[in-house]
Amino acid sequence: MVDYKNGYNVVEHEDNEQLCAYLLGKAIETGFSHELYRVTVVQPNAGHDEGRVRSFDMAAKELKAFQKTYRAGIERREEAEREFDDAQEQASAAWAERWLVAGDHCMFCDAQAVCPARIKLAQDQAAIDFADEPRELRFKQREEDVARIMKWAPQLEALIRAASG
Ligand code: SF4
Repeated sequence: MVDYKNGYNVVEHEDNEQLCAYLLGKAIETGFSHELYRVTVVQPNAGHDEGRVRSFDMAAKELKAFQKTYRAGIERREEAEREFDDAQEQASAAWAERWLVAGDHCMFCDAQAVCPARIKLAQDQAAIDFADEPRELRFKQREEDVARIMKWAPQLEALIRAASG
């Protein structure tokens, strides 16, 4: 299968859970009848060391193993949803602490502008606190800090886009 991505953010093709899920869907659709399943990522707008077109293969037995992990993830999500429905207002921070895990995957999430885990991660990565007034912020000018913050630029940009609606 081919996954065309028109965006500017580089998508890693190796062990990418989204791509694994696509392959799993294809394997289920075909009754795991092939030994090997391949996904090819096409990203004309994002440069990658291995080129703008690159593939990742998974054997049927690897996909079956991934299916178990994936199913466990779905069950965790269902449990989180049930807890969320039951959670009282004062318990919602504890719920967020228990269930929300922010990361690269947040970039396309509709909840990122209000998600406490996402906001905390952005603050941690940028070493700023969004509760502060911008004029109070003091940025360190060390080279490693700049490099670290710039690495997070696409995620921060996505968060700002989401927050501005
Ligand atoms: S923004 Fe929050 S809810 Fe959305 S994927 Fe990230 S952690 Fe999960």
